[in-house]
Amino acid sequence: MSLSPFQTRLLAWYQHYQRLLPWRTTKDPYAILVSEVMLQQTQVERVAPKYLEFLARFPTLEALARATPAEVIRAWRPLGYNLRAVRLHLLAVEVVQRRQGVLPQDPTALRLLKGIGPYTAAAVACFAFGQDLPVIDTNVRRVLGRLFHGVAQVKERDLQATAREVLPTDQSAAWNQALMDLGATLCTSQRPHCPLCPVSGDCKAAPLFLQGEGRVAEAPEQYRAAPPPFKGSRRYYRGRIVDHLRTLDPGATVDLLALGQALLPDFQAQDLPWLDELLERLAQEGLVRLHRSSPQDGLPQAVGLPE
Ligand code: SF4
Repeated sequence: MSLSPFQTRLLAWYQHYQRLLPWRTTKDPYAILVSEVMLQQTQVERVAPKYLEFLARFPTLEALARATPAEVIRAWRPLGYNLRAVRLHLLAVEVVQRRQGVLPQDPTALRLLKGIGPYTAAAVACFAFGQDLPVIDTNVRRVLGRLFHGVAQVKERDLQATAREVLPTDQSAAWNQALMDLGATLCTSQRPHCPLCPVSGDCKAAPLFLQGEGRVAEAPEQYRAAPPPFKGSRRYYRGRIVDHLRTLDPGATVDLLALGQALLPDFQAQDLPWLDELLERLAQEGLVRLHRSSPQDGLPQAVGLPE
């Protein structure tokens, strides 16, 4: 199918200005899966060096499956959202045990694997296996919304329909990456650079931004509200706990009081239930292992990584 002038312009722009990212030079489904999991909640600049380091340590799905959860959690540092490391490891074990280490090509089959959602399934199917599928991340969502609907936020059904309609056959990987790069560099959330945009002539939102009204029209509540404080939140302490356990020698544990004092200088015995609640949750998620002398014991004596 021949390209429309609009598609040609965007793909030509991408050829020239694309971001050079290490996961774009491979078709290895495992490497692409690793990059997509890392990118879920972390910025590209932070992911790139860790991606290379992680693949050097665990070059294949089999190598990752052979590792202990503790090794994977240690290797994940400093990306944060450590649950991703545990889930990726479990997924590797599942694929090795049940699928001879081969990731399926079909996005529906990919989604049957625990830990793979619709976005990751589409990304692996498209970038590794060349399937013609839209891959809609936050940037793509905003770009398609502005281009074809005149606003950044569009109903999911309409967005999916638009994404499928404009997808060029046999060029979906470059196309999806072009939309991602446009969103990351020019069509940014607060101040799009429409005069530099290769598709401004086709864009429904461009006239608004070029007249200087777009920023007001598109400044929804979440941009105005102050972000929730991170320090002091459960997420903050969950990350600090795993960070502290990563500093221990393999197999070592720490007692709860010492751990609490490593987190908070004024931590006292009466704060143990608060710490215990965080640890129980982390243990359920597979991020830590609790040590009790007997199952009937209330508070655990010590905690370590799941070796
Ligand atoms: S013209 Fe402006 S709003 Fe439209 S896609 Fe380009 S950068 Fe985004």
